[in-house]
Amino acid sequence: MIRKRCVTSGFVLVFLAATSGPRPCGAQSPANHTTDAAKDQLAQRDPNRPWCGGHGVYEDECSICHPELKERKSPHPGGDARGDQRGALPASPDASAAAAVERCEAHGIAKDVCTRCNPALVESFKKAGDWCAGHGVPESQCTKCNAALRERIATEFIDTFAGLPRSQRPPSPACANDGTKVRLVSEDIGKRTGLTFSEVARQPLTHFVTCNAEVAYDGNRFAHLSSPVPGVVREARVDLGTSVTQGNVLAVIDSPELAAAKADLLQAISSVALHTRSFERESKLEKTGLSPMRDVQEIEYKLSEATIAESRAAQRLRLLGLSEEEVRRVGESGETSSLLSLTAPFAGEVVERSAVIGEAVETSRMLFSVADTARMWAMLDWTEPRVRLRVGMPVLLQVEGFEGESFTGRITWVSTKLEPRTRTLKARAEFENPDGILKANMFGRTSVQVRDNESALVLPKDAVQWDGCCNVVFVREDDSTFELRRVRLGPAPGNIFEVRDGVREGEQVVVVGSFLLKTEVLKGEIGAGCCPVDFNKKK
Ligand SMILES: [Zn+2]
Ligand SMILES: [Zn+2]
Ligand SMILES: [Zn+2]
Ligand SMILES: [Zn+2]
Repeated sequence: MIRKRCVTSGFVLVFLAATSGPRPCGAQSPANHTTDAAKDQLAQRDPNRPWCGGHGVYEDECSICHPELKERKSPHPGGDARGDQRGALPASPDASAAAAVERCEAHGIAKDVCTRCNPALVESFKKAGDWCAGHGVPESQCTKCNAALRERIATEFIDTFAGLPRSQRPPSPACANDGTKVRLVSEDIGKRTGLTFSEVARQPLTHFVTCNAEVAYDGNRFAHLSSPVPGVVREARVDLGTSVTQGNVLAVIDSPELAAAKADLLQAISSVALHTRSFERESKLEKTGLSPMRDVQEIEYKLSEATIAESRAAQRLRLLGLSEEEVRRVGESGETSSLLSLTAPFAGEVVERSAVIGEAVETSRMLFSVADTARMWAMLDWTEPRVRLRVGMPVLLQVEGFEGESFTGRITWVSTKLEPRTRTLKARAEFENPDGILKANMFGRTSVQVRDNESALVLPKDAVQWDGCCNVVFVREDDSTFELRRVRLGPAPGNIFEVRDGVREGEQVVVVGSFLLKTEVLKGEIGAGCCPVDFNKKK
């Protein structure tokens, strides 16, 4: 079929309806489970009874097209077992008839009667005289010839996908424009209109996903310090903002408990020494028969008790914050000073201080916080559940007040659960902060670089048009002929789309001018004023 038309816009086009058969659907063909009996039934059906090609049953048994059939108590009297089962479904409050029949998404009809998904069925349909040679599908399934079927499939399709943004919707199986060829009467027109083309190519696909973030101290380089013993603050040697190195004394605590613990250790040590000496003496006497075995055993028991007391006292001092070395020195020197030094566990800056000289403090009282701010964390609130966040992904961070600057880091942790209130996913990224610009609790935006596909087919965003039901592109056949194709799109990083179905690598698509071509196709579709094209007329 050839539609010739001229338009007054100065843009002269000849429309050729697609004459080739439909392309195979992008969906995977399921295993052909249709039995020979079913094929025979398709072939031997009554030609005088209207047939619902969309659902593979007689029209008067199709409870999907005719929901009132569901109300019938008994199956349709003329229906055979298969028809009853698939068409006149029993009314059920929680299972709709439409859900009971599995539809193929690409063609919008019941999967097990779809000849494009089950090519083995073609012969049966041809035998039954149900075949549209022009479009290569059964007449009863042909959306190009059968307006009612097209409308029903279109409605079902819209109901299913209306919630998705346009760019994420699959092509409509009821699309009347798919395969339409647009021909310019001369190549000149293409040049004068300024059509440009782009080749469908493969490239690694990365895109940035942004989310809110809050800066925090690096949790591995941040410490709250409190006194390990109850006592009185005698000295506070650092103030807020003081830079410290590992081991620097921050404060001195006077603790009677520390003095008592040291004394306990010294006593235990001398007790061990005493019992060791008497054990050696008694052992010698026992060997010469001057001392009974019982006495030796008694002393041995006391010695082991003293040894346990010594290690317990040493352990107590370690718990109070003394190092192994300091504990050993207490034992050697016999000092019982009550003064304890609170030291920095790593190099950093004093970021909190509440120590007051002369104040009595408990072990629960936080005196200082030390943070290494050379590296900071950002806690991300990830809101894109469809994009998988992984440890190691590069991240850019911008914070309030420093819009011009951005920090580069990487994801170092991704939570395994969603936040119950916000339904976001927590993640963490690390950033170097040599100039100290990043401050804890700052708000910022992060852009995470997501690489979804090493070799994705892509085309420019401007090449994609919306024909009212599908995302479409115009594939160049030659300088004056273009085929409208429905495409299934993936992610859209920057000014390109990943394209998952509808075009092949190396094909050329119209970029500038694709909107004009679409407009012309839609005009043709609604049958706007037509007149024979004057091929000799120079435009
Ligand atoms: Zn039906
Ligand atoms: Zn199909
Ligand atoms: Zn047809
Ligand atoms: Zn469409």
